[in-house]
Amino acid sequence: MIEVAIFAPEELQKERLDICDKCEFYKESFGITICELCGCYMKMKVKIKQLVCPKGKW
Ligand code: SF4
Repeated sequence: MIEVAIFAPEELQKERLDICDKCEFYKESFGITICELCGCYMKMKVKIKQLVCPKGKW
């Protein structure tokens, strides 16, 4: 069976964003919050269950 990307539960999304919120690489740019290391828009990245923090924080 082919594994497809699935959404993370809302509680996991919140846990991830809480970790990012305290991280030195979490920055606001033009009104959106991004990770300076991966360049991702974190409010979207945390929704995809299989994605991970480049620093191993989640
Ligand atoms: S994804 Fe990881 S490195 Fe990037 S802001 Fe979040 S906790 Fe920090």
